[in-house]
Amino acid sequence: MAILPIRIYGDPVLRKQAKEITRVDESIRKLALDMLKTVKEAKGIGLSANQVGVEKKLFVVDRSFFSTAPNDDSPLIVINPVLVESHGEQTSEEGCLSIPGTYADVTRQLEVLVKGIDLDEKEIQIETKGFLSRVLLHEIDHLNGLLFIDHLSSIRRRLLAKKLKKLSTR
Ligand code: ZN
Repeated sequence: MAILPIRIYGDPVLRKQAKEITRVDESIRKLALDMLKTVKEAKGIGLSANQVGVEKKLFVVDRSFFSTAPNDDSPLIVINPVLVESHGEQTSEEGCLSIPGTYADVTRQLEVLVKGIDLDEKEIQIETKGFLSRVLLHEIDHLNGLLFIDHLSSIRRRLLAKKLKKLSTR
């Protein structure tokens, strides 16, 4: 497994719409495992493929980071995720490995039902709420070329403008 370089704010790949994965082959499996290693190494929680420069619908979540249930801390690998249902609202602080050092309160849906496929091309359904729901929505956003700062008010964004400019020109 390899550690992949994480693309930083300003890199155009972060604004690209990721493409559907039509076949889960060896290259996709390797990418998913490399991404898991990368997110652990970076002490992050989730990572989407375009954050490592690959425009494909795939994200990983290192659940050991926050799970309290011992049998529920296996990594999540979701291919071609679709948000099927969502309810409610929650607001809390969010950050992103592609926008280092920047945190802000983001309001998102509280409960979600996300469908996708796993590395065996089996359909998976994740019904969850609270923190994991926030993580899933953040990663699905990435695959649509969206970043958490896009959810902020224009005033909040203006306050971050200097910091963001610095990141995008480094
Ligand atoms: Zn992110």
